[in-house]
Amino acid sequence: ASHNVDDNCIFCKIIKGDIPSFKLVETDAVYSFLDIGPIAPGHALVIPKYHAAKLHDLPDEHLGEILATLKKIAVAQGVENYNILQNNGRIAHQVVDHVHFHMIPKPSDSDESG
Ligand code: 5GP
Ligand code: ZN
Repeated sequence: ASHNVDDNCIFCKIIKGDIPSFKLVETDAVYSFLDIGPIAPGHALVIPKYHAAKLHDLPDEHLGEILATLKKIAVAQGVENYNILQNNGRIAHQVVDHVHFHMIPKPSDSDESG
């Protein structure tokens, strides 16, 4: 897959290893890691190694592996209830300008009663 880096981007720095992260999955095209501010246990992010600010800036060649990685994480986490979230633009709550997909497990009642 083609690569593209923005030296001022925190997610590009995470991909390079210049900023530490809890890595879940890495392939030639994507990187996945735990969110630093989880809204549920297991909250993960999947990002392309190609720097693009928003989804519509990302070449199609990266899309399939992102979705496959989200699926792989769901299987690895053993979750049946979860949301995939992807924000574009400040008004839509995007804070980091490198395309990312949130994988957010929904704790079930049985999980909470543990
Ligand atoms: P957004 O609101 O842009 O869709 O989500 C950005 C996400 O990136 C937030 O959930 C935030 O907690 C996460 N995040 C921001 N900076 C870092 C970081 O340095 N490391 C990790 N692991 N997550 C980060
Ligand atoms: Zn980037």
